[in-house]
Formats: sequence, structure tokens, C-alpha cells
Amino acid sequence: MPIDDASTRLAEVREKIARAARIAGRAPDAIELIAVSKTHDAVAIRPLLAAGQRVFGENRVQEAAAKWPELRETTSGVALHLIGQLQSNKAEEAVALFDAIHAVDRPSLVGALARAMDRADRRPACFVQVNIGDEPQKGGCLVADLPALLAEARSAELPVAGLMCIPPADIEPAPYFALLARLARDHGVTGLSMGMSGDYETAVTIGATHVRVGTALFGERA
Ligand SMILES: *Cc1c(COP(=O)(O)O)cnc(C)c1O
Repeated sequence: MPIDDASTRLAEVREKIARAARIAGRAPDAIELIAVSKTHDAVAIRPLLAAGQRVFGENRVQEAAAKWPELRETTSGVALHLIGQLQSNKAEEAVALFDAIHAVDRPSLVGALARAMDRADRRPACFVQVNIGDEPQKGGCLVADLPALLAEARSAELPVAGLMCIPPADIEPAPYFALLARLARDHGVTGLSMGMSGDYETAVTIGATHVRVGTALFGERA
């Protein structure tokens, strides 16, 4: 993607975020745009870096570990968010590489992350992923299990920054975003990681603090 394209798309997405924020009476800079670069190589990512984007999302530890160390050598201030499911045996690598982890969804992973953070003396922000539509094939803890999982994460001293969800596909996402926002309020959590290319403006009007946008910035994935 040429730099012109990248900066145009980035400006468009930022403007839409700002507009949605204003509609909801929120400050546009209260929303962090995570550019989801999964499956895209360094050639596609560099134009976005050149356009000023610094926060990126990846869904696989291995892929991120292969791409990002080199990109980080040439650009300072990059923050990496892990947005995909994490196996406990990759917790150590994830803690070393990522600045935030959006897929904390079970007690065994809480334990693995807590141990990895203690060993590394590094504490990436954690988002607890909620299976907001109760879908069997999806990651995330069930809504009913959230209170116990949050208590466990807090007692393990994970830095719980927020909740994350991926609503069911092909239906209106707003009610699911609203439910996640209410769960966050009920449990004293401030961050809300919700909204992708198709629905990030809706998510922003409902309180998203982090939107995860891939296709609208990079084009379709192969
Ligand atoms: C791929 C992915 C995104 C980005 O999706 P787009 O529709 O390309 O914006 C956001 N969140 C998660 C968890 C993803 O896996």
C-alpha cells in the first residue's frame, strides 16, 4: 500500500472515530485506534508507520514475533496489542512482545500470565475477553463466569485495563456493545475494546476506548 493510500485511509478512519465520539459527547482522543496488521507484511505496515500510526494489533504470537522486532528497530514508540486467543504455553513470549493482551479468558491463562509477568518484571495491560453472544465456537469467558474470572485476575495482580468482545456476526452489534459497557460499569472496569472495521463507529458511540480496525486501513486480507 503506497504511503498516500495509507495516510488517506488512516485519516478517514480517524475522522469517523472523531465524528462518532462527538455525537456521543466524548473526546475523540479518548479512543485508541489499534491498526490490526495480522496477515500483512512489513511492506504493507511501513506506510502506516510513516503516516504516524503507532498502535498495532496482531492475533498470533508467532507471526508478531517474526514481523515486529525489525519494524520496531526502525520506528520508536510502537505499541503492540495481542487480540487473538493465547495458549498458556505462549504466555511468556506474549508478555515479552506485547504491550497489551486482549484475550484473557480463562483461569489457567490468568495463572500463566501472572507467572510470566513476575518472571519478566513486565506487566502488559490486560483485557478480559467476554463471549458476549454465548457462542460455543468463540473465545472469551461466558458472561456468567466474568465476575469470578475478574476476581481471579485481580487477585493474581494482572493489570486489568478493560473488557473485550467480538459480537456475533451478521446481526446488529449495538446491543452486545451495550451489554459489554454495562458489565464493565458493574465491575468497575474502565477500558472497552470493541468495534472492528464494520462497526467501530457504533462501538465508539457506545463507549469503546479501543477499536480494532484492520480491513478499513489495510484493505481485504488474502
Ligand atoms: C481481525 C480482527 C479484527 C479486525 O477486523 P477487521 O474487520 O479487518 O477490521 C479485530 N479484532 C479481532 C479480534 C480480530 O481478530
